[in-house]
Amino acid sequence: MNIVRIVLVALMVFMVGLLAVLALTGVNVVRQDEPQWAETLEHLQQNAVDKSRQSATYLSYARCAAQEHRSDAEHLFRAMSAAECIHAKNMQRALERLGGRFCRSDNGTDLEMVHGADSVFSTRENLLRSLRREDTLSLKVYPAAIDRAVAEDARYAARVLLWIAGTDMKHARMIQFCLDSPDVSCDSVCYWVCPTCGNTFTLRIRERYCPFCMTHSVRFLSF
Ligand SMILES: [Zn+2]
Repeated sequence: MNIVRIVLVALMVFMVGLLAVLALTGVNVVRQDEPQWAETLEHLQQNAVDKSRQSATYLSYARCAAQEHRSDAEHLFRAMSAAECIHAKNMQRALERLGGRFCRSDNGTDLEMVHGADSVFSTRENLLRSLRREDTLSLKVYPAAIDRAVAEDARYAARVLLWIAGTDMKHARMIQFCLDSPDVSCDSVCYWVCPTCGNTFTLRIRERYCPFCMTHSVRFLSF
């Protein structure tokens, strides 16, 4: 657990430093037909659709948790669903700022989709599946994507990807807590989500400003 905390703190310090550099060096001006952004554009396209689908999946997991009277998991899945939707829209925005054009998936999935098929698994299984996903994304997929975006000088995209990686890492820790403490009930508001970047907070650790994007906490969404 200590190693996890050290890794989390190190990532946060790295993110704050990189965000500061990005802020000081300014935001990308939108330019058309920049081939050096090809890989970042492709990543944004694919993962915006994936995030939108995952938002719907988490909503189905929340309904399953409600049926099992797991209010703690229900609140968490609803908060993560909202965060995934915000992430998807931020990725679409980043893609368009690079001159790309977001394409909906073949089956018509778009970023407004909020209804997923009901989960056929138990809440514990849904938590475990979610934990594997969030860990993989935050520890493997997004660090590589951030490096690529920085290398391609796609600074706004790098900033958005940093927000997502940091949030997904926090989601993993919240899921782990739900798995470790299944008897903790949550009858009212349990989580807050920043509407700008999707950063997610527990009720115990709600900061005055979002440390990722500096949005004031009065604007946070409650779950
Ligand atoms: Zn934020």
